[in-house]
Amino acid sequence: MSIHYSSYSEIKSGLQNGEITAETLVQGYLQQITTHTRLNVFNEVFDQEATAAAKAVDAKIKAGTAGKLAGMVIAIKDNICYKDHKVTASSKILENFTSIYSSTIVERLLAEDAIIIGRCNCDEFAMGAANENSYFGAVKNFADETRVSGGSSGGSAVAVQARMCHAAIGTDTGGSVRQPAAFCGVVGLKPTYGRISRYGIISYASSFDQVGTLTHSVEDAALLLQVMAGADEFDSTLSHQPVPEFTVDGKQPSKKKIAYLQKALSSPGVDAEVKSGLVEAIEKLRADGHEVKPISFDYLDYLVPTYYILAMAEASSNLARYDGVHYGYRSPNATDLESTYKLSRSEGFGKEVKRRIMLGTFVLSAGYYDAYYAKAQKVRRLIRNKTNELLEEFDFILTPTAPEPAFSIGKEEKDPVVTYLYDIFTVQASLAGLPAISLPVGNNSKGLPLGLQLLSKAFSETELLNFSEYFLKL
Ligand code: GLN
Repeated sequence: MSIHYSSYSEIKSGLQNGEITAETLVQGYLQQITTHTRLNVFNEVFDQEATAAAKAVDAKIKAGTAGKLAGMVIAIKDNICYKDHKVTASSKILENFTSIYSSTIVERLLAEDAIIIGRCNCDEFAMGAANENSYFGAVKNFADETRVSGGSSGGSAVAVQARMCHAAIGTDTGGSVRQPAAFCGVVGLKPTYGRISRYGIISYASSFDQVGTLTHSVEDAALLLQVMAGADEFDSTLSHQPVPEFTVDGKQPSKKKIAYLQKALSSPGVDAEVKSGLVEAIEKLRADGHEVKPISFDYLDYLVPTYYILAMAEASSNLARYDGVHYGYRSPNATDLESTYKLSRSEGFGKEVKRRIMLGTFVLSAGYYDAYYAKAQKVRRLIRNKTNELLEEFDFILTPTAPEPAFSIGKEEKDPVVTYLYDIFTVQASLAGLPAISLPVGNNSKGLPLGLQLLSKAFSETELLNFSEYFLKL
């Protein structure tokens, strides 16, 4: 059975008129997973459980009691807790850890009868932009298996790209939903910080972490957001903003003002075909009557350093809990308390995670706190204010999602800073806590997907989603 649905509404009508069943859908996706195991997308497939869940959903559909996501087969990133299932964050330190509770989002998805087919490979503790930092190995891009999937939600992106599920859930701290979405030709939405509960999501950098979606359509991103968003007493950072109906109406939008980064077109670091994709989008938008203007952003050079200082500082604190005592990996070579800490962490964490813990600890240390951490907090405030000011004048900011399309696996940069700079376009929304979406805009001459990003005001997902839907059809 080939599974080619571009949106859940097609699946829903197929289920309702009896053309398909949830069970056959699950079988189709499982088949696709088996055929493409070498892509290394899943850390675990819940085959029997998903099949049983599908049977139960089919019964509910017959009885007329099925939820909003009945028969939507989804995959979750392996940093999202699901009761009685393993959750590893693709790290050796949690390799055998089983979650004793479910995240709020998993509960909400299941309550609407979504079927969870498995947990996806990702960068270790969501640190990375290529999925090459996973303890379980890199995820391969379905468009070209010699290329990376992007990261850190690489498995989630390829699962959707290769039709191993209908949609996937990822997390985005500095671009981890949007960038793999761009590399894999799917839609990647990071909502406003505080829109979706983080309860039960393994923390990386708590003031940035946000759950996001990887889908074939904007409509599905809206539907999943609707189900997951909103108040949750277990996450005190969650916003009390009311959750509107995120329906995508498909109407022609009013004339918009859109800014694009001049530097994205002039910088030698941006790939030529990425630039021409941006130019083409600008021309189409102008031709349809929108005002599209180049801008320069004064703090452009500070985006990546500010993000990394703060993300690493928060990570060093969040990851202190993996101590070889409470849970997770404990070194068999430990002889006393101190060696338990030292060896469990040294053996359990990968290279990049250790690098970040050390740098994060450094920027928080008494002697350097003011020079790095406190300074970066101030710069974050400036970036946020300046971005919000721009969004007073403009409805959206348009950028490439990433400076390049998916690069070759194993082309690891000797200098990690070069890798960090690939996040230049995605971290602005993360630093400012704003919603942003990566939209697939076709392939380059080598057949590799390209993505463009739209960023908008806090809590303006309805406008962002509606404009995205229109933009994709332009
Ligand atoms: N590439 C960025 C980082 O490594 C973003 C990762 C993410 O959003 N989880 O921190």
